[in-house]
Amino acid sequence: MGGCSEPGTPDGGYRCPLPGHREGVTDDPAVPCKDCLREFGTILRPAGTPSPQRSPEDTARLLAERDASVRAAYDAQRRAS
Ligand SMILES: [Zn+2]
Repeated sequence: MGGCSEPGTPDGGYRCPLPGHREGVTDDPAVPCKDCLREFGTILRPAGTPSPQRSPEDTARLLAERDASVRAAYDAQRRAS
């Protein structure tokens, strides 16, 4: 991987919205990937009422904004080591 910090959309969908699971791919960025649903299904809280006004692209953008500071911190830590 190139270590870029852009949100990106891997082939076949969106990144898993669960923090730290960058490898996961999901059709809907408001729904965790299949692996997470299988592993954590009984303890995952639904991501709220689905919003018909919010497209998958908008949801992906919201998640990218949510994670931007954390991603920047990890990138900085990686560069420093
Ligand atoms: Zn996942």
